[in-house]
Amino acid sequence: MSDCLFCKIVAGQIPSKKVYEDEELLAFHDIGPKAPVHFLVVPKKHVPSLYELEKADAALLGRLVYKAQELARELGCEKGARFVLNCKSDGGQTVEHLHLHVLGGRAMGWPPG
Ligand code: 5GP
Ligand code: ZN
Repeated sequence: MSDCLFCKIVAGQIPSKKVYEDEELLAFHDIGPKAPVHFLVVPKKHVPSLYELEKADAALLGRLVYKAQELARELGCEKGARFVLNCKSDGGQTVEHLHLHVLGGRAMGWPPG
């Protein structure tokens, strides 16, 4: 989608600090980190939010989550991490391209605000 921030990052039109890339996924550091480790994992395909995910994309989401935990371990989150999918306005989503937050390097509180 031409007007989507994360599609522009995927296309290399906006720079990012890349953590990982393959044919389907991109992971990059969040520009406003909320923890010592904070990166986002996105599908390269434009999916606006979890609610728009199609059944055929279930395997893609599975790959995304699996890769996210591998990267969390590689980036030093051996004590665990918080994996967050904000969905639409009540979920606190501000960028309308599905993304999984991975936060680590400190203990997380619960519940989220
Ligand atoms: P959301 O609030 O939609 O769940 O998360 C969007 C995230 O994208 C926020 O944590 C925000 O800091 C991050 N973000 C917004 N713009 C940019 C950007 O241009 N580059 C990067 N790397 N992260 C961004
Ligand atoms: Zn997009």
